[in-house]
Amino acid sequence: MLSRFAPAGRRTAFLASLASGALLLAATVLPQSAQPAQAAPLMRMPFRCGQTWNASTRSDHSPQFAVDFNRDNDFGDAVIASAGGRVTTVRNLGDTSYGRYIIIDHGGGWTTLYAHLSEFAVSQGQNVSMGQRIGSVGNSGGSSGPHLHYEQRLNGADQRVVLGGNPVTYFDSTQSLTSHNSC
Ligand SMILES: [Zn+2]
Repeated sequence: MLSRFAPAGRRTAFLASLASGALLLAATVLPQSAQPAQAAPLMRMPFRCGQTWNASTRSDHSPQFAVDFNRDNDFGDAVIASAGGRVTTVRNLGDTSYGRYIIIDHGGGWTTLYAHLSEFAVSQGQNVSMGQRIGSVGNSGGSSGPHLHYEQRLNGADQRVVLGGNPVTYFDSTQSLTSHNSC
């Protein structure tokens, strides 16, 4: 739209209209100029608003940037979607690895993974909204006690977890975090 071959008059008028509104700037110019890398969608803690959980990271975790969530008596607690999306995997690996786990595709290559669940509340192919219950905390798979193993991935690669815009601390850290999911 803002062609470098545009007549000076048109160009000046266009720039003046830009000055009149940032919305127009965002809507009109950004798609025409260098496209910024697609930002991660806003992803919230996978627990109900107001709940406080311990989020642990460890350098020997597999994959390394995964976060384990715990709180007292957490077996059966609701696990909710970090963001809206489409459920692409609902799978049970039995007594190994993730056990019962779910993957949600949020678009732009971003996915979240929820593992060691005790039960599923969604099925493959289902669309979910942020905050929707997808399953329950459990101890399935290669797990030594009830907890939620949680990952954020970009194009399948494990990423440092960011919750509500705040990066989780790495490594070998346990943080007490309160959910603001769908508050
Ligand atoms: Zn884990």
